[in-house]
Amino acid sequence: MKSFTYHQTTKIIFGKGKIEELPEIAKAFGKKVLLVSTPATTPALEAQYDRVKKLLSDKGLELFHFDGVVPNPTVDSISAGAKMAREAGVELVIGLGGGSSMDSAKAISVEATHPGSSWDYLFYKNQPDPEKLLPVIAVSTTSGTGSQVTQVAVITNPELRDKSALYNNILYPQVCIVDPELMVSVSKFVTACTGFDVFCHAFESLIHPANSAYVNMMAMQAIGLVVENLPRLVNNLETVRLREKMAWADILAGLCIANAGVTLPHGMGMAIGGMYPHVAHGEALAIIYPAFAEFTQSSEVNKFAQLARILNPKLNRLSDEDAAAQSPFEITKFIEKIGLNKSLKDVMVPENELEKLAEQCMVLPDYKNNPRVASKEEMLELVIKCTH
Ligand code: NAD
Repeated sequence: MKSFTYHQTTKIIFGKGKIEELPEIAKAFGKKVLLVSTPATTPALEAQYDRVKKLLSDKGLELFHFDGVVPNPTVDSISAGAKMAREAGVELVIGLGGGSSMDSAKAISVEATHPGSSWDYLFYKNQPDPEKLLPVIAVSTTSGTGSQVTQVAVITNPELRDKSALYNNILYPQVCIVDPELMVSVSKFVTACTGFDVFCHAFESLIHPANSAYVNMMAMQAIGLVVENLPRLVNNLETVRLREKMAWADILAGLCIANAGVTLPHGMGMAIGGMYPHVAHGEALAIIYPAFAEFTQSSEVNKFAQLARILNPKLNRLSDEDAAAQSPFEITKFIEKIGLNKSLKDVMVPENELEKLAEQCMVLPDYKNNPRVASKEEMLELVIKCTH
């Protein structure tokens, strides 16, 4: 068997109603807490934040609420949260929300305790000091980015039109709470985008050079859960049972990326998100996936065949080569089912920037971990395919 190392330090608390345990868990880290979230733009979010704030203050915790997280969090938004954390002298950061809020909590923990900005601590730059970091509790409300169980914080620098990440094993949240009841208010679009992100995390980990028997087991389970439950969930948003299944798939896929990683689609998705922050992360991935599958399937026949057969069990009758060749079509059908069938044109990516976008897709190293590594020309062809 292939050798592997598996590393994960986040305590995972999963289940309906588990948010009630947050105050006891938080108290173990300190009394002064920074709660990090997006603004309460809907009554449901407002009710959720009020509930969590009440839970914490009823247990005597002193609460500061930074509600300035923006989807695809920016360097400036992190700086504003870090400033609040420093001035209040908080001992703990709680990220409450989707990937944007949980990633912001991790990045705030770094910037509040280190010189410079969070952008100075991207994975290839300075290392944060583990002794200085504020502990982080991640409470996920989307399923999801897996951020609650990863060592990653994705941030965007609008000035540079670049999206990159802090990536370090000291950035795993100390504890995460995954309570599916907190997720019933997520809109259809965000449910589809985040659910598709889970699918991508799992599949890209499966084809990643750093995969392992451990990762592959979780990835296969996660893909099966998404394929079975996401199309139902987008039409039954308040069904807690379906939210539970997707929340579990999200944890599994998050553990996969923490121990293997992502490949070409995420590298391209990050480039799209950096240049066009109005495009949601999962939306960008859905735009990319059919072209990526077409480009890659013949270099990883077995795994694309497995994926195609999960998406369409009738393909069990075909050879691996024939089943793999069907995968772009089956992926497209799945994306249509969850309502994310779009092109770069649909999300207003201008045609005169396609070359620049293709270059940006090669900035992060993720594309090099793809079973077939795209040349500069092939990357441009891929980007052009995604415009139709
Ligand atoms: P998000 O956190 O940006 O949230 C999207 C929208 O959904 C926001 O407006 C938010 O307020 C709303 N929302 C969240 N929970 C809700 C709820 N329960 N009810 C109603 N509305 C709710 O979306 P996301 O897709 O979870 O996160 C995207 C970010 O995560 C991107 O920046 C992406 O690059 C990053 N990411 C991080 C990792 C990681 O490992 N750290 C992995 C993948 C992606």
